[in-house]
Amino acid sequence: MGSDCLFCRIVAGEIPATVVRETDTTLAFRDIDPKAPVHVLVIPKEHYADVATLGQGDPALAGELLATAAAVAEDEGLLGDGFRLMFNTGAYGGQEVFHVHAHVLGGAPLGPMLCR
Ligand code: 5GP
Ligand code: ZN
Repeated sequence: MGSDCLFCRIVAGEIPATVVRETDTTLAFRDIDPKAPVHVLVIPKEHYADVATLGQGDPALAGELLATAAAVAEDEGLLGDGFRLMFNTGAYGGQEVFHVHAHVLGGAPLGPMLCR
């Protein structure tokens, strides 16, 4: 991947993003169209299409992604009231960007998990 992938281009610094945390292997930045008072995306710098591919291909990196997401939640003050960590995956999951990303959502009650 690389030039064809929006989030690889953010990792490369070719597209600006509001970065809130960076490690050797992960990057966290604010969603451009926030759906909650706090809405941060956490990605591995290495390209994996979705959480299934990442989880099976590099479980250690998946763990680092979770650790970064937890640190973001702490930095954003979400640990007390709680938050939602979400991986939209594939067509039925509503995934739009095919570079795996965890949505860290919080700052207000988020309602039911799914609309019915
Ligand atoms: P998905 O639907 O794939 O789970 O989520 C993709 C997310 O990426 C959406 O919440 C969308 O607002 C966000 N997004 C799309 N393009 C950009 C961008 O250029 N910069 C940032 N920071 N977020 C983006
Ligand atoms: Zn990518």
